[in-house]
Amino acid sequence: MENIAFIGLGNMGGPMAVNLLKKGFPVSVFDLSAEAMAKAAAAGSRAANSAADAASGASVVISMLPAGKHVAALYLGEDGLFAKLAKGTLVIDCSTIDAGTARRVAETAAAQGLAMLDAPVSGGTAGAAAGTLTFIVGGAVEALARARPLLEAMGKNIFHAGGAGSGQTAKICNNMLLGILMAGTAEALSLGVKNGLDPKVLSDIISKSSGRNWATELYNPWPGVMENAPASRNYAGGFMSELMLKDLGLAEETAMQSHAANPLGALARNLYEEHVQQGNGKLDFSSILKHFHALD
Ligand code: NAD
Repeated sequence: MENIAFIGLGNMGGPMAVNLLKKGFPVSVFDLSAEAMAKAAAAGSRAANSAADAASGASVVISMLPAGKHVAALYLGEDGLFAKLAKGTLVIDCSTIDAGTARRVAETAAAQGLAMLDAPVSGGTAGAAAGTLTFIVGGAVEALARARPLLEAMGKNIFHAGGAGSGQTAKICNNMLLGILMAGTAEALSLGVKNGLDPKVLSDIISKSSGRNWATELYNPWPGVMENAPASRNYAGGFMSELMLKDLGLAEETAMQSHAANPLGALARNLYEEHVQQGNGKLDFSSILKHFHALD
């Protein structure tokens, strides 16, 4: 059985590590937050003093960190983990980061005889807790075959997007579309309500018509339309607006680097930028509705 080091035990990484433990994998953990460490230790993991300590003796290292700079700092350079890992160690980075950094880190890993996958996830904190995440994987087929039992302990759907960095590219395409669709759904609902329609009735109509999308079907931004959606609990929990802003920024960067047009993604990024600056960064991203409609 693989011996796992798990680095980054936040909203996503914490429950993911717990699901590995539940499936019987030995897991050593490290996070800068003492609170996150205490939770993971209570679930049965070995609490390490540093990332290098967690990784000593591990056959697989999994990371779930905020952004590309954290991932590069963890693995690269003289003090980075790559300088310390045994050849043949499998490294799986599940953070959402820019594809350029993901490729650079994977190239360095390969040069040191390590296998590396970028494996960002979709499914949010609820999916992380339930073990139903979707993994969008970039890297070699053989490395994915080895990683599969671990990914299956944390998720339900596993897609191979292509070579190194492809997982990040596919994830960013999906999230750019999600940001555009959520803002568009909020705009359409506001238009209907300002013209006398009931938001629930309008949502039901759209859900069975050609404008339907994930937001109208499962994650309605209007408070009270869907009992379980973050909109019905003052936009608490879910996927924070500041993380959506980060992903829309990554999409724009990727578009610039590849000379792809992204006018709608850029517009959505501007909307989320203003929304976050107005103090809504910690609210679920469906709170973009407030940009279109004043709520009581
Ligand atoms: P988070 O901020 O809750 O967790 C990040 C954790 O990393 C924190 O506990 C922090 O202390 C730790 N950390 C930072 N630098 C570290 C280091 N050098 N060594 C050890 N630990 C370190 O963030 P999250 O919501 O868990 O998101 C993690 C990643 O997953 C992000 O890239 C995010 O974009 C992505 N993601 C999040 C969601 C979501 O719904 N929250 C959904 C899909 C993807």
